[in-house]
Amino acid sequence: MIMRKPVIVGNWKMNKTKNETVAFIQAVDSKVTNSATWGIAVPYLALEDAKKTAKNLVISAQNLHFEDNGAYTGEVSASMLKEIGVDWVIIGHSERRQYFGETNETVNLKTKKALNEGMTPIVCVGETLEEFEKGMTQEICKRQTIAAFKDICPNCMETVVIAYEPVWAIGTGKTATNEIAQDVCCYIRSIVAEMYGQVVADKVRIQYGGSVKPEGIKTLLEQPDIDGALVGGASLIAESYIAMMNNLG
Ligand code: PEP
Repeated sequence: MIMRKPVIVGNWKMNKTKNETVAFIQAVDSKVTNSATWGIAVPYLALEDAKKTAKNLVISAQNLHFEDNGAYTGEVSASMLKEIGVDWVIIGHSERRQYFGETNETVNLKTKKALNEGMTPIVCVGETLEEFEKGMTQEICKRQTIAAFKDICPNCMETVVIAYEPVWAIGTGKTATNEIAQDVCCYIRSIVAEMYGQVVADKVRIQYGGSVKPEGIKTLLEQPDIDGALVGGASLIAESYIAMMNNLG
């Protein structure tokens, strides 16, 4: 029996000020259970206060740049994040791919940078609605997975978190069925096994993301290859975040 501790992270996107972030953490942090690693990915400006306030919640960034420093207006580096104690980061979210020109190549560079700095990356992959309808889910996930994890050291690879997020399910209220989510997460694990061997693949935690709600989280995580969730909307309200923790037991 392979044991992987579930990991549930709220992706707040461009929501909540510093004060709102601190208020959320004050309401939620003491209720964090041992059933999983629980975290929130907050806007850059709220990261430092979030780190100071949270004792139990993992605090994650939503992006980083792959260079150490330089003429990259508006960007934030790994060392800047680490200086304030942030060592988790989401990489390649579909919104960044869609609106901010993130490519498979930049996702790979950022993943390598995060791992070289000892950070835990949550690397997102997933197909669009059009690709889903054309039956291209596996092809897209394979391409994105191979590109994202090109030339990673096997020891580092064990520590990554992969988020399978079908783009058609993000913020739309449409969730993939547990069966679809399981099938794709299992397929992604098989790609990791082809690249880095089964031992490594069995250690990698794979989340599902896309309109996850507190009611659905328990059965979702009962799927053998689903080790957690990346949660947008339902992670923004303290009561709903606490309901996820209670429902997972
Ligand atoms: C996300 O932002 O990664 C996400 C899955 O959002 P939502 O849960 O709102 O669909």
